[in-house]
Amino acid sequence: MRIIRFSPGPDTGLGTDPLFGLLEDDNTISVISGDPIYHGVTKTAATTELSKVRLLAPVIPRSKVVCIGKNYADHAAEMNSVVPDEPIIFIKPNTSVIGPNDTIVWPSMSGQVDHEAELAIVIGRICKDVPKERVNDVIFGYTIANDVTARDLQKRDGQWTRAKGFDTFCPLGPWIDTDFIPGTQAITATLNGEVKQDGKLSQMIFDVPTIVEFVSRVMTLLPGDVIITGTPAGIGPMPEKSTITIAIDGLGELTNKVSARG
Ligand code: ZN
Repeated sequence: MRIIRFSPGPDTGLGTDPLFGLLEDDNTISVISGDPIYHGVTKTAATTELSKVRLLAPVIPRSKVVCIGKNYADHAAEMNSVVPDEPIIFIKPNTSVIGPNDTIVWPSMSGQVDHEAELAIVIGRICKDVPKERVNDVIFGYTIANDVTARDLQKRDGQWTRAKGFDTFCPLGPWIDTDFIPGTQAITATLNGEVKQDGKLSQMIFDVPTIVEFVSRVMTLLPGDVIITGTPAGIGPMPEKSTITIAIDGLGELTNKVSARG
């Protein structure tokens, strides 16, 4: 299933409040009652069309976006870092989340805003200390993330809260795919039509079961929490007013524009 969250347009007759929907094909949306992460996927009689609505981030993390640093060997190398022997984790605030086609706002504090293409795990159940063999019980589905990073501030601060925590620095979308199985799929970042990152999910140092087990040993995970899983080599700056598309084969594409320099 592909689960979307959307703002109905004036042509839909569905009001103005954000709704969740099930994408039945490339264009047909069945409206879902309530938030499927909490209430399950219950279709209503209402339908509309993807071409008439504005997509929003498919999940609003109620508490946190947990991020994995240096999870692809080629990216660790380009950062002049060694491959870690256990996952490095940090947190982006839920206020950094935006949806497909929303604008990444360049903060005035920074001179360099980078893209990082990442697979995002959406947690579906409250959980703690999840063993690797059981992580699929707590995963609702997958979506795509751009771990936007003010690279100059990351280097200057020595820790990453400011560099990765600005409003709009966590685009998520376009939907949650509940059937996606991470494997050897390609993950790319394309900037103004030029491919900058081109990796495979299978190049992750720590795979999804290892990540969920590790993070859940540290903190309780809540429904709607998101874990983003690190980025392959090829990160780099997004110029002002550029267009960035993160794509994962079989999952979809997430496109955002960057504002003028702040
Ligand atoms: Zn990242």
